[in-house]
Amino acid sequence: MNIHEYQAKELLSKYGVAVPMGKVASHEDEAEQIAKDLNVEKFVVKAQIHAGGRGKGGGVKVANMLDEVKRLASEILGMNLVTHQTGPEGKLVSKVLVEEASNIATELYLGMVIDRATEKIVIMASQEGGMEIEEVARTNPEKILKEYVDPTVGLLPYQCRKIAYFLGLKGKTVNKAVKFILGLYQAFTEKDCSLAEINPLIVTNDGDVFALDGKMNFDDNALFRHPDIEKMHDPNEEDPTELEAKKWGISYVKLDGNIGCLVNGAGLAMSTMDIIKHHGGEPANFLDVGGGATADQVLQALKMILSDPNVKAIFINIFGGIMKCDTIAEGVISAAKEVGIEVPLIVRLEGTNVELGRKLLSESGLNIITGSDMREAAGKAVDAAK
Ligand code: ADP
Ligand code: MG
Repeated sequence: MNIHEYQAKELLSKYGVAVPMGKVASHEDEAEQIAKDLNVEKFVVKAQIHAGGRGKGGGVKVANMLDEVKRLASEILGMNLVTHQTGPEGKLVSKVLVEEASNIATELYLGMVIDRATEKIVIMASQEGGMEIEEVARTNPEKILKEYVDPTVGLLPYQCRKIAYFLGLKGKTVNKAVKFILGLYQAFTEKDCSLAEINPLIVTNDGDVFALDGKMNFDDNALFRHPDIEKMHDPNEEDPTELEAKKWGISYVKLDGNIGCLVNGAGLAMSTMDIIKHHGGEPANFLDVGGGATADQVLQALKMILSDPNVKAIFINIFGGIMKCDTIAEGVISAAKEVGIEVPLIVRLEGTNVELGRKLLSESGLNIITGSDMREAAGKAVDAAK
């Protein structure tokens, strides 16, 4: 789960990570009041969406006067912000963060992720702040320091000093950075983060360090331990179909292709996408109805697939283990009755009650293409989508 910048800053400040003073607003008047209360000389108004590149997209603006804050807030609130991370459709801005503008001497980069290969947390630091770190990693990998932290030992102060020196920090700024990095690490581990990225981490003209931006991602499987984090969830940031799927206990991820997939089991869903690609096709989605899906869930899943206008064929690939093939057949038949399936339907059934499932489908009067095995059925689905 991702959270907004303002939420990340609120959370991090509790861990001693220095962030600029500021507050979130959903209305221009509120934004102006926040600026008034801040009582500083310069302000920044920042669009709150779950995507980076807001600065370049026009979602981060500096204001010198209170009425300027109000004007900028009214411009940014309600705008459809397009950045390289939102895709061309952009994202609607419904909140802005109003904060004190910092006097930036240098912009740096600091990030933390879990490295599954080494089973450690890796801290990445670079003097190339404000830039895409992926770009730096590709063109100038030597400009990134990677410091590995054994979670059973924890992050040690000498490692933080090493990072601070790599970032070119000096004097009292080193100590401030050490406190900053230790705080970020504590938040990362206590809250079960999978990613924390401060880009830019800045040094001010006075030698202070601040998180000017904050991106945090949390492990969904650990959210039950953190009701405070779960509360930060913003449903507006999620794909509406994916949200609907969650309600029904279905895992659905929309993709760009034209073959809708309905599969039981995440592993089979992955290999179904692989085999579609193998035949030169493109899946329109990842969809796992789960091991023990009901006919109702199958109906919902089909409705979701059909709501995607790109879908030109549907490939149902079921291995009946816990799930029975006749349950799938019932779901397909009721979906066809309820919503009508206009696109070719390719079905591959195998496993428990397969004979009964096939019988139900063949007696349903539906126009179904069957495949004797997964490979053949996938090939037929790819042909049908053309
Ligand atoms: P994004 O990464 O989405 O573009 P950032 O929060 O990193 O958004 O802001 C983009 C740029 O705007 C920063 O690199 C920094 O130069 C400037 N900026 C952001 N917040 C402040 C602030 N509080 N004071 C001064 N400049 C800021
Ligand atoms: Mg940034």
